[in-house]
Amino acid sequence: MALLIASVSESDPTQMIRAADAAWADGAEAVELRIDALGGNLAPIADHLRANPDRQWIITCRSAEEGGRFNGTATEKAARLRQVASDTRACVDIELAEWEQHPQLREIVSAPEESSDRLRLILSAHRFDGPPEQPTNLIDRMLAVPGAVAKLAFTAGDAMDGLIATDLMQQYGRRVIAVAMGDDGLWTRILAKKLGAFGTFCSPAPDTATAPGQLSLTDMLGRFRWKRLDWETRVFGLIGNPVSHSLSPILFNHWFDQFGINAVYIPLHIGRDSDRVGRFLDACAQRPWLEMGGFSVTVPHKEAVLRRLGDSADYLARSIGAVNTVCIQDGEAVGYNTDCYAAVDSLATAIGCDRADFPGISVDVLGAGGAARAIVAGLREFGCPVTVYARTPEKAAALADTFTCSSAQWEDRPRRQGMVLINTTPIGMWPETDASPMPPDALAGCRLVFDMIYRPNKTRLLLDAEAVGCKTLNGLDMFVRQATMQFALWTGRTPDRGEAFAFLESEISGDPSPHGSSG
Ligand code: NAP
Repeated sequence: MALLIASVSESDPTQMIRAADAAWADGAEAVELRIDALGGNLAPIADHLRANPDRQWIITCRSAEEGGRFNGTATEKAARLRQVASDTRACVDIELAEWEQHPQLREIVSAPEESSDRLRLILSAHRFDGPPEQPTNLIDRMLAVPGAVAKLAFTAGDAMDGLIATDLMQQYGRRVIAVAMGDDGLWTRILAKKLGAFGTFCSPAPDTATAPGQLSLTDMLGRFRWKRLDWETRVFGLIGNPVSHSLSPILFNHWFDQFGINAVYIPLHIGRDSDRVGRFLDACAQRPWLEMGGFSVTVPHKEAVLRRLGDSADYLARSIGAVNTVCIQDGEAVGYNTDCYAAVDSLATAIGCDRADFPGISVDVLGAGGAARAIVAGLREFGCPVTVYARTPEKAAALADTFTCSSAQWEDRPRRQGMVLINTTPIGMWPETDASPMPPDALAGCRLVFDMIYRPNKTRLLLDAEAVGCKTLNGLDMFVRQATMQFALWTGRTPDRGEAFAFLESEISGDPSPHGSSG
């Protein structure tokens, strides 16, 4: 089983031992000691390793050229590693380039013990300018050294690059550590367990990452349920750009846990170029061993996913022109839209009416993207008069044309007259929390202002609306409703919406509001 390795970097030996002990106590399955930044007397570290021989230690003195802080010679590095690791059962990590060049580094690793499965050597390579051209050549060079485990870490440009890491883990299994660095590759760290790699690295605490994109030990064990994952785990994910603000990983992993379903939900950051999302779906389809069960789709890919799925999207998604849910069954991907009725029901509940009352409620919609299409489709189905304001007039006109409603110039939005205002643009979404799509004095007289954003829970728009006496609604209720429908499509189970809403409210209660306090 892949090991969850907490990577500890400290400049003081006592602090390092303390941080390592905390990581073991918190559930780390191996600990890497990054001695490249360590000053002072190294003897206490060696003593600590000898006193804890049953733990899997990895000793790394990472050179500056490969992302570490060691600037000495190979001879100095060999001495440093020997000082900490010799006469212990620890494993050492040495960069392949230095291993091949410097015999003094090769001498410090004793021959692997045939009788023991304990690892003694990791050979590693780090590429910060993207994936190497021939990753398997590098791995094969490392694995040619008897007893070595190969580690390749490279910066991922988006989720597509992460597939290079998953392919390596699938091909080499326990003999490899493949890391797609950066936020765009963090999903591959989570799948290391499923794919049976040697292990993956995490930070002992949220602010102590030793490489870009490292998740914390708490997140790996808690949010992503590392200990529950295995080779049978099904994979679901959020396709979007950005994805880091999303509550979806928190909610879906919570539900998988609650229902005892062997699955994990991961963020998949995919470049804005609309071709990339299609290529990613194709690449996943070519890798059945990833066992992708489905995706949520968010900004800006909903329309591109619909184009990619074509007739494999259901009637509602096709008539809306956007897919926010993909289900994969027996290798076939089918698209749905759960935003539409989630938005309509959330709105009706907030106004205190039912769908039959909609013809008497005029609505102004800001934006003409996927979410706008979903709610306008639902509002028009139940007879609401709707006016669409969008910065791209052709999109506003096309949307109005499709759903037989009105459109108006974006600049004219302060003169809006509807009873309800709905923001479907990302303006005001974290981290740009001071922005609002409407001047405050244009909100007076609105019966309800509905901002589809849920992070922050009160956007600048909603705060301005409250200030002039409007009722407000954020996107959290809609989010929970559409996610509940997604979960039911993927698993056949229906979670409790009230419990989910309260769970997420507590998760985001510490988010900064536009006023700088918790909201
Ligand atoms: P989308 O397809 O990318 O559409 C975004 C729309 O906003 C487009 O019309 C875009 O105009 C417009 N826009 C973006 N930036 C703008 C700016 N600075 N000024 C004026 N207009 C701007 O995204 P989406 O999927 O519809 O999502 C939109 C928002 O709704 C996001 O914040 C998303 O998180 C939220 N949402 C929430 C839920 C929920 O469950 N609560 C569900 C879905 C979406 P152009 O076309 O000209 O770029």
